[in-house]
Amino acid sequence: MEKLSDELEQRLLNLEENLKVIRGTVAEAAVQSGRSPQDITLLAATKTVPVEVINHGIALGIDHIGENKVQELCEKYESYDLARCELQFIGHLQTNKVKNIIGKVSMIQSVDSVKLAAEISRLSVLQSITTDILIEVNIGSELNKSGVLPQDLYALLPQISAFTGIRVRGLMAIPPASANEAETLGYFSNMSKYFVDIKAKKLDNVDMDYLSMGMSSDYSQAIMAGANMVRVGSALFGQRLYNK
Ligand SMILES: *Cc1c(COP(=O)(O)O)cnc(C)c1O
Repeated sequence: MEKLSDELEQRLLNLEENLKVIRGTVAEAAVQSGRSPQDITLLAATKTVPVEVINHGIALGIDHIGENKVQELCEKYESYDLARCELQFIGHLQTNKVKNIIGKVSMIQSVDSVKLAAEISRLSVLQSITTDILIEVNIGSELNKSGVLPQDLYALLPQISAFTGIRVRGLMAIPPASANEAETLGYFSNMSKYFVDIKAKKLDNVDMDYLSMGMSSDYSQAIMAGANMVRVGSALFGQRLYNK
């Protein structure tokens, strides 16, 4: 027990230090790209992170967290300190699991089909709420990856925004893990073009408020390319341990 609590203490200290560094980097990238630090939302990606660590982060001012597995979110849900923090869903979402998270999350970042949007709409209307969503774009057109293909994005948007109980708030993307730095920058910049272009169209029930892209290894570049929400996990909480 002694050992465990030492480890936990070290983990909390690391989190505090990491958060400071990341906030500094976010602020710098914001200013360099002509915005102010407050314009950028830092979302902590909390998969595999114990709730006591997450809640310490919330006490330090983390005000957006995101889970990517429905079951894990539900197991941790009652323990999150959500009085000062928004909980979002950022992972691949199966239609039959929407019922487990509707009303629990402030935004679903990973909507990529009419079928999924229809279920979010149906359950939101049942609960008399509106669920904010982002459209996930498979910006690298990878096989077997979530997200709408770029060439289908414009056709999908009006179909999704037509649903009641849903509000489209922006776009989300995860560039291919195999991409080098220059390629990743290209993907970020393509996302930014879609974001700006769709925003200018002023479509009904589509508010391009959030461009969610950038993770631990590339959040600074993502911000420079136009992201205003970054999802950071391991750089905040340390390497993930999957064999828990
Ligand atoms: C895990 C995860 C992140 C954060 O990944 P890191 O590389 O650890 O920062 C971001 N977005 C999604 C959707 C994730 O599942």
